[in-house]
Amino acid sequence: MNPTNSAFPTHRTCGTAEVHARLLERRRYQQHRIDIELFTSRFQLFGGPAQRTGITTIPTVVHVIYQDGSANISDAQIQSQIDVLNRDFRGTNPDVSKVPEVWKGLVGDTRVQFKLDSVTRTKTTVASFSTDDEMKATATGGHDPLPADRYLNIWTCELSGGLLGYAQFPGGPPETDGVVIWHKAFGTAGTATAPFNLGRTATHEVGHWLNLYHIWGDRLDCQGTDEVSDTPGQQAPNYGKPAFPHVSCTNAPNGDMFMNYMDYVDDDAMCMFTLGQVARMQAALDGPRALIGRAAT
Ligand SMILES: [Zn+2]
Repeated sequence: MNPTNSAFPTHRTCGTAEVHARLLERRRYQQHRIDIELFTSRFQLFGGPAQRTGITTIPTVVHVIYQDGSANISDAQIQSQIDVLNRDFRGTNPDVSKVPEVWKGLVGDTRVQFKLDSVTRTKTTVASFSTDDEMKATATGGHDPLPADRYLNIWTCELSGGLLGYAQFPGGPPETDGVVIWHKAFGTAGTATAPFNLGRTATHEVGHWLNLYHIWGDRLDCQGTDEVSDTPGQQAPNYGKPAFPHVSCTNAPNGDMFMNYMDYVDDDAMCMFTLGQVARMQAALDGPRALIGRAAT
């Protein structure tokens, strides 16, 4: 599908669950995910053996993959995305004031920040990419990652079918580890387009990269869980700009925490991670992502 011929997406979609399902067919990934969830449960109860204190700075490389000029986004657009990540992950985003009173005490500072290490620019013959990871290898029209145990790799490119982005959870193959963001949902300048022009697609996807699940648990029967205790259970994703409260399953009176970064609302409607989500991300930084932000030895 050529994205220039398809309508602009009316709501958020993320390919992370699809990629997760595909990788689960590999025994090695299955075992890694089981081990990581056990480690995370222990961390949530007891803390971790190498638990980080203070701020973790994640060296970040942005791979710009483009066929025509518009997807060859500017350095300013890239920096605008890094700036958003730094605000959102520290809870210093001004719109955090929109969190309903009942949940203000749950707003978390992830103690993670991002430092742009380098930018690669690759002209490709591929008109648009999908969740097939082809943007992640030079051999398939993209660019190889920097070592994934040390760097957060972000690819930005043309994506087909209204897909805004996707991530790979910890425990997957290093050669495809990182996040992918459609250039029109990347940063706050240049080609970034409303309602996805506040950089929140990357905030959501980096949340997955640090082992957060969707807040509704990727099921639609009220049995899903994101394995985080301070986020209410909810039936399904929320889209657009919901009004508080939106009740589902048994979460009355406050309802869904739709303003969480791990829901599917528009960029200007999401504004928080919770303390429980911070603990899950810190578990990822203590376990499967233990080398990230550490000095090389
Ligand atoms: Zn997602």
